[in-house]
Amino acid sequence: MCRHLVYLGPPVTLARLLFEPPFSLVRQAWAPRDMRGGGTINADGFGIGWYPGDGAPVRYRRAQPIWSDPTIAQLAEVTSAGAVLAAVRSATVGMAVLDDAAAPFSEGRWLFSHNGVIRGWPDTVVPLAAELPVRDLLTLDATTDSALLWALVRHRLRGGADAADAVAATVRAVAEAAPGSRLNVLLTDGRAVVASVLGHALSVRESPDAVLLASEPHDEEPGWRELPDGQLVSAVPGRVRLRPLT
Ligand code: GLN
Repeated sequence: MCRHLVYLGPPVTLARLLFEPPFSLVRQAWAPRDMRGGGTINADGFGIGWYPGDGAPVRYRRAQPIWSDPTIAQLAEVTSAGAVLAAVRSATVGMAVLDDAAAPFSEGRWLFSHNGVIRGWPDTVVPLAAELPVRDLLTLDATTDSALLWALVRHRLRGGADAADAVAATVRAVAEAAPGSRLNVLLTDGRAVVASVLGHALSVRESPDAVLLASEPHDEEPGWRELPDGQLVSAVPGRVRLRPLT
């Protein structure tokens, strides 16, 4: 299962956020402390999306272990941002290992990540996929459950839903169509975050001017709080709100 995080707050280097903490996302790629539902390491790719200014985010995605890419280690030292979404991937058995299958998925200002699995893929979600325009299906980032989940959320965003409604409605529909699915997602536009907690852990650390949501705490400093399962999370720096997904 993948590990992911999203940060909003004062600009930090990618190295400080992703490489330096004692249980950093990079370390979680080879030594996660909490893996559920199969898999032991997150070596099937990684992706980092960050907002260099007020405009659209930049992404760096690769289908290789994050620790084996010297370029990102160097870039991370010299790149700062006040909004970052990053993920390391453990591909579900049978799913493609390609750059395009690594989160974050993106459109315009949006960055999206999924930690989990759709049970019974793909049969269980064929009726949901059938609601998408054919063009969306022909242009999926990859033939993976996470890419389809992003297409379903994006379809609702394009239709005018706000981020919380787009995530909540999609997670509910998929959980009903494919019971037992693990559906932890992160969605940000660089200003606010919406997340779902369903079947995997998610922790938060808040300060008055920042918020960090992560699959697992990346250090042993105080302030981390594990969020309960079955919640929809809406957060901006200094404020985190929860409500039940169902
Ligand atoms: N099932 C997804 C994939 O294969 C999500 C990965 C994960 O959480 N391990 O990409």
